[in-house]
Amino acid sequence: MARFKEADERLLNKTVCMSCSVTNPAKATRCRKCGYSNLRPKAKESRKS
Ligand SMILES: [Zn+2]
Repeated sequence: MARFKEADERLLNKTVCMSCSVTNPAKATRCRKCGYSNLRPKAKESRKS
């Protein structure tokens, strides 16, 4: 986990719109695409390997 700390943080510092699934900055309070205010933290899921 420590190996890719920066990458992990970059992923974790994202939120995902619950409405349209667009990725937003962690600081965002509303979706940049649809304006929906219910954003969830981006799940730490790896689809690699
Ligand atoms: Zn949205």
